[in-house]
Amino acid sequence: MSKQGEQMRSNVLRVLRQRDAPMSAYDLLRELQSDAPRLAPTTIYRALEKLVERGSVHRLESLNAFMACRCEGPVDMSVLAICDDCGAVEENLATSVHEQLSNIASQSGFEPGRRVVEIHGRCASCTVDEVHS
Ligand SMILES: [Zn+2]
Repeated sequence: MSKQGEQMRSNVLRVLRQRDAPMSAYDLLRELQSDAPRLAPTTIYRALEKLVERGSVHRLESLNAFMACRCEGPVDMSVLAICDDCGAVEENLATSVHEQLSNIASQSGFEPGRRVVEIHGRCASCTVDEVHS
């Protein structure tokens, strides 16, 4: 693995960790281009792909965006709750949910791979705001 690749991955991860909300690959590109104007989109995509593979970054399929993993648990066992009002994402470990999904799929002989569980709705603070306004 190249040193440059490693450097890029740690830069991408740093930017994602600084941000509380999910970012698109394009957001990341723009952010990182302030230090490296010639940075190419494919470099970002490659770094993201590796980070997702390692479990340091989550891909939010329904938003086509990325966020740093904040849970300490096993890769691919979280449920992501996405607030449609403020964009906050809550990450919860839900091993049993994922095991159940795999079991359901394998009943028909299907070999389950990556599972994605995303819930859209409104976070607690956005629900509170509504009550008070
Ligand atoms: Zn919210």
